[in-house]
Amino acid sequence: MTSNNRPDQIEEVKNIFSAYLEKKDLRKTNERFHILEEIYSRHDHFEAESLYTDIRKKNFNISRATVYNTLELLISCDLIKKHQFGKNLAQYEKSYGYKQHDHIICVDCKKVVEFCDPRIQQIKSMMGELLNFKITHHSLNMYGVCGSCQKKREMEAASKKEVEVN
Ligand SMILES: [Zn+2]
Ligand SMILES: [Zn+2]
Repeated sequence: MTSNNRPDQIEEVKNIFSAYLEKKDLRKTNERFHILEEIYSRHDHFEAESLYTDIRKKNFNISRATVYNTLELLISCDLIKKHQFGKNLAQYEKSYGYKQHDHIICVDCKKVVEFCDPRIQQIKSMMGELLNFKITHHSLNMYGVCGSCQKKREMEAASKKEVEVN
């Protein structure tokens, strides 16, 4: 997600999706393109269910099955990425034109933060060379407690102590 939106990006993305559907002999329905547009207008990591409710909220009539099915198609043509952060439900994000990045997830509030560190690229090429692998992709998730949840935990611990003292 790390990057700004270019106005012509949505057109490029639609062209890629359109070519993919043609190649696979699948129908180019309005619903499928609508879902793609909706995804490329957001800037977050989202669950399939919240994408579905957001589209429904905008009064666009669409079935849950179409949303799930279109997400799978978009993964296959590399326009979105699917993540499994811990035990949470799968989350998705747009991926076309976006820099490679990794994620840190708060175990308390489930917030997802992105980071980009060139040293990871170095590890990939070094390990690939060392172990004779052609590295195709990687996934790196870190888990921890975010700043505001740390404060919350401290406050909870402090109030517990108070109760114990009294
Ligand atoms: Zn991300
Ligand atoms: Zn948190």
